[in-house]
Amino acid sequence: MEIVNQPNKIKCDISGCKNMASFSLICTDSKKHNLNFCTNCIAEINKQFNKVLTPKSIKNIYQKGGLNGKAK
Ligand SMILES: [Zn+2]
Repeated sequence: MEIVNQPNKIKCDISGCKNMASFSLICTDSKKHNLNFCTNCIAEINKQFNKVLTPKSIKNIYQKGGLNGKAK
């Protein structure tokens, strides 16, 4: 799974959003199944995930090697 920039004019996939997608989430080998998001929705999704995932203090994230670092 990977998030990449979306250079084409594709609408954001979030229901009710009329913005153009800036990013695509690649889930499979087929580009038809990409999910496309605008920057607003990415920010909102990120905010919502932060609510449900285990909260981490900035200090803990730093000690574990950054936002993408795996817990040691
Ligand atoms: Zn959107």
